[in-house]
Amino acid sequence: MTVKIGVFRYDLKEVPAVIAKDGLECFGLCRQDDLTIRIDESGNNARKLNSYFHELLEALNFLYGFDLTHAQVIGIASGMAQVLQENPELTNRLQELWKLKHVQYGPMITLEDEDEDK
Ligand SMILES: [Zn+2]
Repeated sequence: MTVKIGVFRYDLKEVPAVIAKDGLECFGLCRQDDLTIRIDESGNNARKLNSYFHELLEALNFLYGFDLTHAQVIGIASGMAQVLQENPELTNRLQELWKLKHVQYGPMITLEDEDEDK
């Protein structure tokens, strides 16, 4: 699948084995040079869910310059995966919200509007 993150589109696939640059096998990998995210398809669903969150956060960390340490990425991704996995009512509600097509935003503020106040 293609995943839009910021202005980029990452190619995301589950694959039989994920090999990092150092030759080590890992559960997932997010590469900025070719905009790919790979998730190890083996293992249980909880690990895969965690890997999805982890690699998406790796991409966000890079693109938006959060400057998170790897320990922080691990903690945030694991925490989000756990909360969403163990609260199906919450994930159902979030899915409903994501599907809403008519999102209400506040009024646009233009430069002219700001000038009128002065
Ligand atoms: Zn990582």
